[in-house]
Amino acid sequence: MVSLKPEEISKLIKEQIRRYDDELEVGETGTVITIGDGISLVHGLNNAMSGELLLFPHDVYGMVLNLEEEHVGAVLLGDDEGIKEGDEVKRTGKIVEVPVGDMMLGRVVNALGQAIDGGAPIVSEKYRPVERVAPGVMTRKSVHQPIQTGLKIIDSMIPIGKGQRELIIGDRQTGKTAIAIDTIINQKGKNVKCIYVAIGQKASTVAQIVEKLRKHGAMEYTTIVSSTASEPAPLQYIAPYAGCAIGEEWMENGDDVLIIYDDLSKHAVAYRTMSLLLKRPPGREAYPGDVFYLHSRLLERAAKLNDELGAGSLTALPIIETQAGDISAYIPTNVISITDGQIFLQTELFNSGVRPAVDSGLSVSRVGSAAQIKAMKQVSGSLKLELAQFREMQAFAKFGSDLDAATTETLAHGERLTQLLIQNQYEPMPVAHQVLSLFAAKHKFLKPVKVEQVKLYEKEMLKYMEREHADIIHDIDEQQALDDALSQRIKDALTSFETEFKNMLEG
Ligand code: ATP
Ligand code: MG
Repeated sequence: MVSLKPEEISKLIKEQIRRYDDELEVGETGTVITIGDGISLVHGLNNAMSGELLLFPHDVYGMVLNLEEEHVGAVLLGDDEGIKEGDEVKRTGKIVEVPVGDMMLGRVVNALGQAIDGGAPIVSEKYRPVERVAPGVMTRKSVHQPIQTGLKIIDSMIPIGKGQRELIIGDRQTGKTAIAIDTIINQKGKNVKCIYVAIGQKASTVAQIVEKLRKHGAMEYTTIVSSTASEPAPLQYIAPYAGCAIGEEWMENGDDVLIIYDDLSKHAVAYRTMSLLLKRPPGREAYPGDVFYLHSRLLERAAKLNDELGAGSLTALPIIETQAGDISAYIPTNVISITDGQIFLQTELFNSGVRPAVDSGLSVSRVGSAAQIKAMKQVSGSLKLELAQFREMQAFAKFGSDLDAATTETLAHGERLTQLLIQNQYEPMPVAHQVLSLFAAKHKFLKPVKVEQVKLYEKEMLKYMEREHADIIHDIDEQQALDDALSQRIKDALTSFETEFKNMLEG
């Protein structure tokens, strides 16, 4: 046991008090060393945390990103005009937070959660930090319920489950956003809250999306977080985390949430801009070394929580734009490796009128089939293979004219299937309707239909089923599986419709 003399004790205490005072002074306020391009180096904030909010003059906030020995590097979340060297900067002790809760529904907000829709300012009792560690493995349950996109080509072959992360990837103007928006519209009446995060897009594009969602009655259950191309890079950087925080609040309350990040390529560019201005060393394609972590820590937060935690879920559909279909570039490969599968869109398909332009060969969903309803599995089990065979034969058929009967049939079937999977924008389809369409294809009811009449056949057939056999649609929804009896009823109904369709075409 070491005993201290009284004078030593008082010396120690004095020392501690001095250090405490120092810390207070040196740690809590600092001085601007340099300012420009929305970046500031601040001296003296020894206690600042990474991600902490700093208060600059004129009520401008900044966020700490670089912690160095002599200074901290911060990005400004507002206009840097009017801030000059030598100005005082205060710590706030808080990291960036956004308001969360049901009053966010129907609103359009910026990356800080402030209203930008012209409506009343958002007042919330609850705020959440935009960054948070993802739920651990023990708090999760495996993905087992479907999130229906309403798009036949996706729900049948690339099914997405609640809590999954499925990437939508393709060149510019290939219908990436359209898939996301249709999926939101399809959640109507399904008790799923939606968040659409627009990163680095034009304000006019975002306004159009809001307009479309409103028109389809989807804004009631949706929040838009928008950080447009004209906003400073730090706000574009924060936007997806802010959207995620809003979604996590609902997930933890036991709700199902769908979040779209449109798109993470622009997010990576915003982060690169910030990093270069902060003089962080550039790496591959000039992105900073931690750009992988930028997206992994965001997408890890998608989850399906276990029953003890309320069984909520956060399903993420990040979007990535590729250049000339190159999915092996740096950012695309990163995000592909983080997600549970990808929906790959192709310009050639899009231009040839196959929309959604999903390449079924390159697209996968690694966990979603566990979530597909049985009836869908029953009618779609062989689709991917049939389409693959079709594409192979199609390439082959270009060279020869004499085709055997089996090849001709594969080609004929493939052409009809391709037509059947084409779907207009803003027309997501209920799962029972999808099952009926795919059932017709599987059981050769499309065989006598001309390729150019497949769309008409489908439309009329579904109308007919709604009108004459609402019980069948009801039973598919109810049983979620096709037993022999139900299959027979569908076959009988489709056979009756065959005559009706023939008469309709002739009459
Ligand atoms: P960008 O790279 O500019 O973000 P994008 O890949 O998100 O483009 P969208 O904006 O979704 O593509 O779609 C491009 C165009 O194609 C739009 O005009 C849209 O209306 C149209 N489009 C998308 N999907 C379909 C569809 N299924 N049927 C018909 N038109 C569609
Ligand atoms: Mg888009």
